Amino acid sequence: MKIKIFDTTLRDGEQTPGVAITSQDKFKIAEALVELGADIIEAGFPSASEGEQKTVKEISKNFPKKICGLARCTKKDIDACINADVDLIHIFIATSQIHMKYKLKMNEEQVMEKARESIQYCINHGFKVHFSLEDATRTEENFMVKICKIADEMKVHYINIPDTVGVCTPERMKNIISMLRKEISTPLAVHCHNDFGLAVANTLAGIEEGVILPHVTINGVGERAGNADLEQVVMGCKILYKNLGIETNIKTEKIYETSKLVERLYGIKISPNFPFVGDNAFAHEAGIHVHGVLAESSTYEPITPEMVGAKRRIVLGKLVGVHAVESKLKELNYNVSNEIAEVITKKIKDLGDKGKRVTEADLVAIADDILGRKREENIKLVDLRVYNDFGKKPFAFVKLNIDGKEEIAVSEGIGTVDSALNAIRKIKGYENVNLEEYHLDAISGGSDALAEVTVNLCSGKKRTIAKGIHEDIVMASVIAFINGLNNLF
Ligand code: MN
Repeated sequence: MKIKIFDTTLRDGEQTPGVAITSQDKFKIAEALVELGADIIEAGFPSASEGEQKTVKEISKNFPKKICGLARCTKKDIDACINADVDLIHIFIATSQIHMKYKLKMNEEQVMEKARESIQYCINHGFKVHFSLEDATRTEENFMVKICKIADEMKVHYINIPDTVGVCTPERMKNIISMLRKEISTPLAVHCHNDFGLAVANTLAGIEEGVILPHVTINGVGERAGNADLEQVVMGCKILYKNLGIETNIKTEKIYETSKLVERLYGIKISPNFPFVGDNAFAHEAGIHVHGVLAESSTYEPITPEMVGAKRRIVLGKLVGVHAVESKLKELNYNVSNEIAEVITKKIKDLGDKGKRVTEADLVAIADDILGRKREENIKLVDLRVYNDFGKKPFAFVKLNIDGKEEIAVSEGIGTVDSALNAIRKIKGYENVNLEEYHLDAISGGSDALAEVTVNLCSGKKRTIAKGIHEDIVMASVIAFINGLNNLF
């Protein structure tokens, strides 16, 4: 059975408290979702503002046949969707007693009339309709069936059963869906919230009973505790419900990069233990698990990290062996003798005994310390100037001394750090250096605090980690970057 993925990262996800993103960023996410293989993208709530309507329209123009817009059962909201040229209009009206009484101040008859009127209005304008019974899981069952039948008879494209406040259980969801499937023939959607941590379980339960349009968001972003997470729903279907033959159009190997994009643009950090995309999802601390995973990954990993486009990570601890240290150092572009590797391993074990977790950056620091170097610096910073006239794009000028020869470059960027790092990457030979991770820590308090920047760089197959410390963030970043280049080249 093929199901379609309805992604609402850009609508429900944008309703996450504290999230407000620009039109350009919305566009970037829409593009990534299309690349990922989402079938329908709910791009926003066009009647919210003129800007929102314009953005949804722009997205619709670029990805026709994919875009859905949200509307209450009012002419104003539906007109906004029509003006935004969406392919599918998602209209909703609350059907639970609580919502009808306190929010809508309407009775059942009035709600049915409003629904009928709004569906007809969309149809008259030649639009496809996705109809939602808001707060469906707290709706009285007879009324739920009655209103679903209205939408069914009017031939809407989808009927959605939202668990608006996340109070459903998988068993109950199964009962609701199987009951509705006996009454109506319109394809069903579910929209589950995670207030009790059951959003994914409830969504999968719905799919088991024949839901073909799960609503999901990247990283589970959304109102309150969020929505059902796309990654988990898709991988759940693919791996756990394999026997049901459920297929999606999602290119799972793009999951990780899409998740990271949303994490960055929404500014909502994924917790390390988050399934599939969290930092620890495929991390193993040295010892029995590492031994197992390196011999045969399925011993301690249910799927390979490559399946979702992630990478396995080995964390060094007191149980680490000298071979793991050697291979890790090699990966970070350090070639050390077996003797030195033994010394480094002992040092890591000592730190482990003291309860310290040794990161890759720490390993590099330990190696540098033991090797007694100041590694030879072929690349030196001669001059750095950054211009930031707020309101315009900042730009940076850098002058490096590379093996005794001076090179200069200028570049713009989103911010001052970005412009400085972009400038360095404009210098011949460094164009393909990728900044895979950037991490900033303040070592002490106050605005004159020392900033410590850690960068993870790669160039082709080479990878390195480097740090830079300075009281100025841009300078700390540039130092870290150049230290990294000295490791790589
Ligand atoms: Mn919602």
